[in-house]
Amino acid sequence: MEENNNQQRHQARQQRLKEKVDARIAAAQDERGLLIVITGDGKGKSTSGFGTVARAVGHDLTAGVAQFIKGTWECGERALLQKAGVEFHVMATGFTWETQNREQDQQAAQSIWQEAKRMLASEQYDVVLLDELTYMVAYHYLDIDEVLSALTHRPLKQHVIITGRGCHRSILEIADTVSEIKNVKHAFDHGIKAQKGIDW
Ligand code: ATP
Ligand code: MG
Repeated sequence: MEENNNQQRHQARQQRLKEKVDARIAAAQDERGLLIVITGDGKGKSTSGFGTVARAVGHDLTAGVAQFIKGTWECGERALLQKAGVEFHVMATGFTWETQNREQDQQAAQSIWQEAKRMLASEQYDVVLLDELTYMVAYHYLDIDEVLSALTHRPLKQHVIITGRGCHRSILEIADTVSEIKNVKHAFDHGIKAQKGIDW
């Protein structure tokens, strides 16, 4: 008897919840490009960005990627997504965690930024991923006002994803969706090296 009552109450609650969610879905009519930021110290920012690009490509959308940090290895997503028609602009020289040449790094950042700016100004791209852009702003390699201007003047329907730690406050302010990935633990801290296909 008691159990039946609990079950009924639970069902009524779920029904009310469902009605609220359905109403919000019906009310959300806006169709426009989103600015999404994936930041924080935990693992999963770039993989989330590339996952969204893969999702978009699966729906035949056009995507472009600008990667602002030169990694030691070429990431696996590039090999796959380039074959699927995604345009990539990757920092060929310059900024890594090891380099000490500020001028060279800044030049490398600027040259990728020119490509990023071109994509942000073009109706051709449905989705633009700016991977690790946050560091370029934090290091003052890119001018924050110029970045904000390119983001706010982009085509109305274009989606943009920005990844990287320590995202500038004013980018967070204009973003539609912001996720902060928290580091609970990471294998690297236990002496496990970066694994192919998982970390890059
Ligand atoms: P991923 O590309 O795996 O989604 P990410 O974009 O969130 O990672 P970045 O800060 O760009 O993280 O670092 C890239 C590399 O550093 C990846 O190999 C990732 O596994 C590793 N990494 C990410 N977070 C941490 C962390 N908290 N401690 C140690 N290594 C990390
Ligand atoms: Mg990353």
